[in-house]
Amino acid sequence: MAEKHFKYVIVGGGVAAGYAAREFARLGVNPGELAIISKEAVAPYERPALSKAYLFPQGSARLPGFHVCVGSGGERLLPEWYTEKGIELILSTEIVKADLASKALVSSSGEIFKYDTLIIATGSTVIKLSDFGVKGADAKGIFYLREIDDADQLVEAIQAKKGGKAVIVGGGYIGLELGATLQINDLDVTMVYPEPWCMPRLFTSGIAAFYEGYYANKGIKIVKGTVAVGFDSDSNGEVTAVNLKDGRTLEADVVVVGVGGRPLTTLFKGQVDEEKGGIKTDAFFKTSVPDVYAVGDVATFPLKLYSELRRVEHVDHARKSAEQAVKAIKASEGVGSVEEYDYLPYFYSRAFNLSWQFYGDNVGETVLFGDTDPASAKPKFGSYWIKDGRVVGAFLEAGTPEENQAIARVARLQPPVDSLDQLAADGLAFASKI
Ligand code: FAD
Repeated sequence: MAEKHFKYVIVGGGVAAGYAAREFARLGVNPGELAIISKEAVAPYERPALSKAYLFPQGSARLPGFHVCVGSGGERLLPEWYTEKGIELILSTEIVKADLASKALVSSSGEIFKYDTLIIATGSTVIKLSDFGVKGADAKGIFYLREIDDADQLVEAIQAKKGGKAVIVGGGYIGLELGATLQINDLDVTMVYPEPWCMPRLFTSGIAAFYEGYYANKGIKIVKGTVAVGFDSDSNGEVTAVNLKDGRTLEADVVVVGVGGRPLTTLFKGQVDEEKGGIKTDAFFKTSVPDVYAVGDVATFPLKLYSELRRVEHVDHARKSAEQAVKAIKASEGVGSVEEYDYLPYFYSRAFNLSWQFYGDNVGETVLFGDTDPASAKPKFGSYWIKDGRVVGAFLEAGTPEENQAIARVARLQPPVDSLDQLAADGLAFASKI
């Protein structure tokens, strides 16, 4: 079987791979030294676009428009860019076996790739309802969204079922973004999730009440406190209804499931230390195995600000961890230098005309400030999280770039607060003064 050798191999061709490639190019890589091996058929792209502009009925985002690194305002790395730099993009190639001891990867077609240094950037996969044995969960018309192929299938279904009924299972990022895009596409949308409010891992009940009210005003129905336990389908195997645990049935022409992800670490199980569901790394994204790094969704790394190991499934960290690992690799070769990773968690989402950002840690007490009326012409509000008398996290809907920078600064500097009432009254002015 064919065997190829590269000085550096990145397994996985998503967000982290793209930003790593750019950093390699910046610090210097010779033609033929670097390969990116990806299951997907396209060069690295900004994955968050898939649940947003990719699904718009008009002016939808399409490749090559959102290849990395446009998401962070950088140069767009088209497939030709990799060719020019002599970086091999080995696409539509799934690695099915990794032997870290002999520094070899094997693809599903039996090709062997050897490396001197490996960067694991395999990201996450979706959790499927069929994983829990939900009845009828493999019917046609039930979609998940992780890769561009999934998005293409969903676009086709959205177009075919215009005017029909859509059920969104899950009230997290994907559920909220998909609820909005399907409504914009003229589907009659119902969302269902078990928790008392949407995005409970981040949102307080006060934040969630705004978004749920806003969605209701758009005609989106929200069913809380229950889960999908089965699906009905017609004689063609197409989904027709979602059966809920509370006994209700929701008619459905299209179902989108967003119930979470799982980091893709199986290839490396037993070969590398793991922690909190991910591959354990140091502050330079080095794993327990020499010459093997892990970045993006799969990495459990020291979050210096909170003196804790964490795994972060967000695009900003995917970009920054990739750059950090490449800096560390090049520094070990005597090129440039690298400092310990000191990450400030940053999450964001956009749906309808809404756009929020969050920085820091969502622990401790909370205060809500601003205009939280979902019927306002220009709603603008936020929340602070306060732990041990210091503001440790901040959320802002509809912030300007300067205001978003201000809440980021607060989350980084963790200023003390004397009175929560005063903080609520000061609202955004508190952040702007820091
Ligand atoms: P990925 O970008 O997932 O890339 C992993 C790549 O590895 C994929 O190309 C995959 O096919 C490939 N791969 C996996 N296994 C193998 C194998 N065995 N062989 C070969 N290739 C393999 N984050 C935010 O902060 N804000 C958002 O608004 C947001 N929106 C999102 C919307 C959607 C629809 C999704 C799916 C995610 C969103 N995220 C968002 C999360 C963000 O996209 C991820 O955190 C980020 O993409 C992680 O980057 P990564 O490089 O680690 O993994």
